[in-house]
Amino acid sequence: MYDLIIIGGGPAGYNAAERAAHNGLKVLLAEKKNLGGVCLNEGCIPTKTLLHSAKIYDYAAHGAAYGVSFAGAQIDHAFVIERKNKIVKTLISGVAAKLKKAGVELITGEAKITGRDAGFNVEINNTPYSGKFLLLCAGSEAALPPIPGLKEGAAGGVCLTSREILDLKEKPGSLIVIGGGVIGLEFASYFNSIGTKVTVIEMLDQIGGMIDGEIAGILYKNYVKQGVDFKLGARVTKIHGNSVEYETGGAGFKAEADKILVAVGRRAASENLGLENINILTERGAVVTDECGRTNIAGVFAAGDINGKSMLAHTAYREGEVCVNNILGKKDRMNYNTIPAVIYTNPETAGVGETSESVKQKNIKAKTHSFTLKYSGRYIAENENGDGILKIITDKNNIIIGLHIIGSYASEIIYGAAVMLETRMRAEDIQKFVFPHPTVGEVIREGCFMI
Ligand code: NAD
Repeated sequence: MYDLIIIGGGPAGYNAAERAAHNGLKVLLAEKKNLGGVCLNEGCIPTKTLLHSAKIYDYAAHGAAYGVSFAGAQIDHAFVIERKNKIVKTLISGVAAKLKKAGVELITGEAKITGRDAGFNVEINNTPYSGKFLLLCAGSEAALPPIPGLKEGAAGGVCLTSREILDLKEKPGSLIVIGGGVIGLEFASYFNSIGTKVTVIEMLDQIGGMIDGEIAGILYKNYVKQGVDFKLGARVTKIHGNSVEYETGGAGFKAEADKILVAVGRRAASENLGLENINILTERGAVVTDECGRTNIAGVFAAGDINGKSMLAHTAYREGEVCVNNILGKKDRMNYNTIPAVIYTNPETAGVGETSESVKQKNIKAKTHSFTLKYSGRYIAENENGDGILKIITDKNNIIIGLHIIGSYASEIIYGAAVMLETRMRAEDIQKFVFPHPTVGEVIREGCFMI
């Protein structure tokens, strides 16, 4: 009998396995494909690898503004993909080594819950196992909307999800991206930078999903300046071969491209796990959990994308830890209000907490303060004609309840803001901290004097 059986070796599962084993639990981790899940194999890390190559290439293209010329700069897409594969492989073996060192038993195979008696019973590769506790970390998969022609397009290799596009050896001449959310934008950014003609078709009037509207507007302008074509407020109605039919403003239009990326969200991978065998409650496919990661069945926990809550690798890490702590009898809970969200495009955007839109929706009495990043000497030194901003949202007690940045290093600065929100700091508290100079992040401190 294991203390804990974990199904799924992505960020939620592998991190929880390591933490649980360090705390003395006998842990079995089942993974049907590769360790690292979507994040490591076909999400966060592969896209960051691609985007870094694109950034170097972008710098080369704009070097003249900084007195550097890179005549004849070229980008080799096949090389970029090969490099991505190498990096993924290295990181997977790193995760495997950490798990081994921690004493986690890893089985490669598809796990299915078969029932319960003294413990929870799970079958992997036709062998039964039993655990006192069960942690479900099976992740998510790309949602495929019921657009006529999409299935045929996928079978013919024209319609791709974020998984297949990461293995495309040849740069497409043109690409239609359906969905202007995080995945759509990161791929639009990469392919546009390397010279593919990119069109993004987005149903809403704004890109970037739930990010702050003002930040989304600046990101949109940057993309347009870089050459991305957008069809906003546009709903795709049909796909036929290489053409996509869409409606906007009551009229029908058609666009054509070599490849079509479908990036309209992800759904929890809760099927085929045998959840029904122990009556685990799901809602629209996602396993229902409370703030401690508990499901409706005592002893069964769930963490990561499978609960459909935040679908971010960093949320998954923390959710896995919260579950393990609760299994160990330690008090711990998730705070979903202080999870940073980042779009790693060029420029980067990062935000945490309330947005201008969410405070209106929730009727929160709040003040919004916007500052140009040009208050930072480093930002000016490194960004010719940069239009980056910082936005701080405070409540009636001057407590910072939201912070958003568009501009260089945003992804690396935002964790500091998350700590400010988590510890409920007021603007005047930030004034007393010494920030390194010159940095882009010091605009936060500067901004706190102007609130
Ligand atoms: P998303 O929800 O961020 O964006 C999907 C977009 O598609 C939305 O803007 C939606 O309005 C649009 N859409 C839906 N149906 C459409 C249709 N028929 N026609 C046109 N537009 C349509 O989803 P995603 O970009 O697929 O990302 C999935 C998940 O992965 C998200 O939870 C995201 O946070 C996560 N992710 C995060 C990162 C990151 O943190 N940098 C990167 C990639 C993915």
